[in-house]
Amino acid sequence: MRPPPFAYADPQSVDEATGALAQYGDDAQILAGGQSFVPLLNFRLARPDYIVDIYKISALDYIKSTSDGLAIGALTRHRAVEQSDLVRDTCPLLHQAIRHVGHIQIRNRGTIGGSLAHADPAAELPAVVTALGGRLHLRSASGERKLGSDEFFLAHLTTAMEAEELLVAVELPAWPAGSGACFAEFSRRQGDFALVGAGAVLAVDSDGRVARVGLSLMGTGGRPFDGAAIASGILRGEKPDAARIEEVAKRIGESGEPDSDIHAPADYRKHLAGIMTRRALFGAMQHSDAEGKAR
Ligand code: FAD
Repeated sequence: MRPPPFAYADPQSVDEATGALAQYGDDAQILAGGQSFVPLLNFRLARPDYIVDIYKISALDYIKSTSDGLAIGALTRHRAVEQSDLVRDTCPLLHQAIRHVGHIQIRNRGTIGGSLAHADPAAELPAVVTALGGRLHLRSASGERKLGSDEFFLAHLTTAMEAEELLVAVELPAWPAGSGACFAEFSRRQGDFALVGAGAVLAVDSDGRVARVGLSLMGTGGRPFDGAAIASGILRGEKPDAARIEEVAKRIGESGEPDSDIHAPADYRKHLAGIMTRRALFGAMQHSDAEGKAR
């Protein structure tokens, strides 16, 4: 299939890109790594009059430490995140999750911003941002704003971004030293989108009791399911033993509202949600350290 005709712009800076988006509005669509967008174009499921190709804006290709954690530019390739020592050492949940994104060829071209903006409910990155309490940084010709994941991800392939906005970065806050993290997912074949996945982060105090917990599920509805409130209600202030983790897994399995689709019936996704929650929380517990040592 060939894409429908379109006009093409390849801005070299964020200002040029936001200027083009302001000019073309709803008639324009951004192209980043093209891993999700190009198939939509070729199947003519997307028919923009203008394509604003941001792939060469090198200023949006970075991973850096901030006073509050980590900032990753929207055009950073999945593969760069996967290979980053900084990500491995400071954000183990992202380090574990990114290796599940498609195949190496997809990770070589696909971008962090593209994955978050595309908002596929089966994608790993939205779940990671939700579990960690990250923020999405948006820029337009008229200003900028930062949204939490509950504000940004609205529904299946739908975010709160306006047509003239560009996602420029994601900010991931640091968790206390000694926090444990684990990402678990189930997919039928290596490299496939997962049916269900879960990411968990546990911060423990000096007695080994849970001080804070982050938990997010993917594949259980149109947007990431934030399970932190459920998990906190059961685990906070307690030692995270098998019985309590099982209770969280049971509650999460009962809470999601997945739809049945060609990949799996809703009941099976709910069943998997409980199992992935249990695996992620156990893994996070095993990696947490009451003495605050990084593990
Ligand atoms: P594009 O495809 O270029 O864009 C995607 C959408 O986001 C478009 O609507 C575009 O307009 C918009 N967009 C892009 N960048 C921005 C920005 N900075 N600001 C605003 N809007 C923007 N993903 C997973 O998470 N897990 C998987 O297991 C997985 N498996 C895959 C398997 C296959 C075979 C393929 C082809 C893809 C798979 N993907 C998977 C998708 C992959 O992660 C893509 O890289 C990602 O979804 C889109 O990133 P991209 O840079 O290619 O964006």
